[in-house]
Amino acid sequence: MSKTNGQTNGKGANGKGGNGKANGANGGAAPNLAGDAYPIQDHTYDVVVVGAGGSGLRATLGCVEEGLKTACISKVFPTRSHTVAAQGGISAALGNMGDDDWRWHMYDTVKGSDWLGDQDAIEYMTKEAVPAIVELEHYGVPFSRTEEGRIYQRPFGGMTTNFGEGTAQRTCAAADRTGHAMLHTLYQQSLRQNAEFFIEYFALDLIMEEGQCRGVIAWSLEDGTIHRFRAHNVILATGGYGRAYFSCTSAHTCTGDGNGMVLRAGLPLQDMEFVQFHPTGVYGAGCLITEGVRGEGGYLTNSEGERFMERYAPTAKDLASRDVVSRSMTIEIQEGRGVGPNKDHINLHLEHLDPDVINQRLPGIAETARIFANVDVTKAPIPVLPTCHYNMGGIPTLYTGEVVTLKDGKPDAVVPGLMAVGEAACVSVHGANRLGSNSLLDLVVFGRAAARRTAEIVTPGETHKPLPADSAEPALQRFDRLRNANGSTPTAELRLDMQKIMQTNCAVFRTGEILEEGKQKMSEAYARRDDLRVTDRSMIWNSDLVETLELDNLLGQAMTTVWSAANREESRGAHAREDFPDRDDQKFMKHTVSWLDDQGKVTIDWRPVHMNPLTNEVQSFPPKARVY
Ligand SMILES: Cc1cc2nc3c(=O)[nH]c(=O)nc-3n(C[C@H](O)[C@H](O)[C@H](O)COP(=O)(O)OP(=O)(O)OC[C@H]3O[C@@H](n4cnc5c(N)ncnc54)[C@H](O)[C@@H]3O)c2cc1C
Repeated sequence: MSKTNGQTNGKGANGKGGNGKANGANGGAAPNLAGDAYPIQDHTYDVVVVGAGGSGLRATLGCVEEGLKTACISKVFPTRSHTVAAQGGISAALGNMGDDDWRWHMYDTVKGSDWLGDQDAIEYMTKEAVPAIVELEHYGVPFSRTEEGRIYQRPFGGMTTNFGEGTAQRTCAAADRTGHAMLHTLYQQSLRQNAEFFIEYFALDLIMEEGQCRGVIAWSLEDGTIHRFRAHNVILATGGYGRAYFSCTSAHTCTGDGNGMVLRAGLPLQDMEFVQFHPTGVYGAGCLITEGVRGEGGYLTNSEGERFMERYAPTAKDLASRDVVSRSMTIEIQEGRGVGPNKDHINLHLEHLDPDVINQRLPGIAETARIFANVDVTKAPIPVLPTCHYNMGGIPTLYTGEVVTLKDGKPDAVVPGLMAVGEAACVSVHGANRLGSNSLLDLVVFGRAAARRTAEIVTPGETHKPLPADSAEPALQRFDRLRNANGSTPTAELRLDMQKIMQTNCAVFRTGEILEEGKQKMSEAYARRDDLRVTDRSMIWNSDLVETLELDNLLGQAMTTVWSAANREESRGAHAREDFPDRDDQKFMKHTVSWLDDQGKVTIDWRPVHMNPLTNEVQSFPPKARVY
């Protein structure tokens, strides 16, 4: 262990400049780090997938099945990716529990997106959902069954029949451990196909050459070596950035590293202001209590024991979409009807449900409530609070997975060699708000779409152009600067400050004033990057440095999130402005795109929403007023 450490340390990575702040900023003055301070191991693949969650594994599996030489890089063991925590299920209009149609699913998704979703991509997803579930079943996902042996489907918020008339039962589930079942199945299938995994490798940055992506630089956490992956296509599947917030349902690893890499590559992120808060995070711990609980008959009450959702959403009640439930709960708390000694949370009841239903369909929830809230769900309600759950924003892509940017007046200019899938991407199928159980679907549908598109543009074994001599330099300069960061602010301190700013100034309720304050505070926090202190300089299992690299990624995303939110003067989906309570289709039915430069300057522009569907099997859904 210390041998490799000594090797890399000894050659001056440490001695250089002491305070790494100046590096990189000095332009030509910085010495070459590749090969000298940091020996590099080279790899050549047709495709490199960064991320081994549901989307990364589905893309990897698809690429290998297409005969492409594929590497999958993951900072955690694949089955520890956040997808493992998904509970409620995956949507598809199978019609196993009553009539259903993918067009109804498409309508619900367009409506759920508050008309910010791209309708071509939504059509593709909802139509492909049915074969995608059959395929998952054939791969071995142990879906829950009906009496007749069909895949069981539960109702979920916002899922309707007949374009909004009835309640659809559309969400397939493997009890309340759907993500767990999917992730394990996809990993096993990938191994079966001999996909090559680089596990516990931390991807640092993309290799960009004249606007094209040529590969990725990664750091092996286990032995401290630096690796350069050359590839015709890089697929980012690095997940969301929930950890920018203080209270979130996502894993500690959800730091949006791919989004950070994209910003550093000078490319934009899209619709970052749209952050979904899940109504039911366990009070205090943040862990998720799935919407499936309310799908099975659970309901919310305030301090007066009132089922208040009946007032806010008379039809959908407790199954209204997540932003509506989250905001209603927040209003109840703000108006003094919260429960508990501090009147700061809400009760979620399951006591009235048959214990057999709980044991069969919600066993994980009973366990989570017992461990994190000390509650026996058959006897008492679970204390819950709205908690950051999902990032609709991310890397703008087409439904093929190809990353796009604005270029020469074109809103859909493809960035050659780069794709993004899963929560890291903004396809955009979720638009301003995601419906529950549509994300697991997005992972497999677009993971597979990206693999298919890759097979169209890359021939297995195609020769590679040589990489530019300094291809690893920008990544290593940043790495070395942070590794030697010698300021006075510990990483954990700056991270907590950022998380609190985001929680206070960019959460469920937003006004111009709150967001302007958020911009100012986040700018100050961003500037403190230069004052970071990393105490561990080693190359092996250096969690201090990993967390600092992750924080650096988070800070960029927090910045673009607050700026985009302040810029959008309307309320749409999860973005609710108290000072602009209405949706403004004239001015704002368009995607926000935001860039960030190294000085912390955010630039904002727009891309049009794709209103036209992909085929003539369905018509475009024009915007409708919001009725809950
Ligand atoms: C608690 C919880 C419950 C949910 N329940 C549901 C549900 O029931 N239904 C539904 O549809 N959606 C649900 N969601 C949402 C859904 O699970 C996620 O959006 C989805 O799993 C994200 O998958 P992903 O493949 O994009 O990324 P993740 O599963 O987050 O995986 C990210 C991958 O990227 C890798 N990675 C990241 N950064 C780096 C780096 N720098 N270098 C190398 N590798 C890196 C990680 O190692 C990991 O393998 C839930 C989310 C949460 C948090």
